[in-house]
Amino acid sequence: MTGVILRNVEKSFGAAKVIHDVSLDIPKGAFSVFVGPSGCGKSTLLRMIAGLEETTGGKIEIEGQDVTDQEPARRGVAMVFQNYALYPHLSVFENMAFSLRLARAKQSVIKQKVHAAAEILKMVDQLDKKPSQLSGGQRQRVAIGRAIVREPKVFLFDEPLSNLDAELRVQMRLELARLHREIGATMIYVTHDQVEAMTLADKIFVLKDGFVQQAGAPLHLYDDPDNQFVAGFIGSPA
Ligand code: ADP
Ligand code: MG
Repeated sequence: MTGVILRNVEKSFGAAKVIHDVSLDIPKGAFSVFVGPSGCGKSTLLRMIAGLEETTGGKIEIEGQDVTDQEPARRGVAMVFQNYALYPHLSVFENMAFSLRLARAKQSVIKQKVHAAAEILKMVDQLDKKPSQLSGGQRQRVAIGRAIVREPKVFLFDEPLSNLDAELRVQMRLELARLHREIGATMIYVTHDQVEAMTLADKIFVLKDGFVQQAGAPLHLYDDPDNQFVAGFIGSPA
């Protein structure tokens, strides 16, 4: 089954068209990665799926529902940003609970969901701390926890590891893979890092200048690139 479908999606900022006629099928429950150089339109595409950016052409469906004109809160998606955006004055628990409180969830439900997320993220012992008392990796986990408690149909990650050092990045990559195995939700992950794409993805979409160059399993792109750009970018000889 398809998790997210984009049909002939376009985006212009004023006169500048930055996404050109993108059509793609993102499988439900899979880990999909948008990869491409800086400025190719990865974040814009992700923000359009989230509803944070209006589409200027085409259609977006999430699990069979046309969400093109739907407000972000009703789409069943949760986004994790690279600059965590945690509330410094709130504890880890309250940071994770924030959206549930906004939705007026019961205290017992909030406790249960935050603890379940903290369990998955191995953050149970950190719930009383403030973000300033955490390491970079732990802060990133809190940001992911805020998405988990919302139980979204689709997780959207915009270069969530790019602020971390190389060693921590490798560790967090493994954790994200484990998170995906445990939760089994549709995940869409944006990165400019080919290694990250190749190691995390079930399916990769290679972007360049607002066009999808090729889509497929990592090994397929590696063994059988459609063009010189994909070959060069994914790293195999053409
Ligand atoms: P990526 O995430 O792949 O680095 P982006 O999606 O951020 O790329 O940007 C794609 C293109 O759209 C870039 O040329 C960028 O300058 C442009 N762009 C992004 N956001 C805006 C905006 N709010 N206004 C005008 N141009 C934008
Ligand atoms: Mg970006």
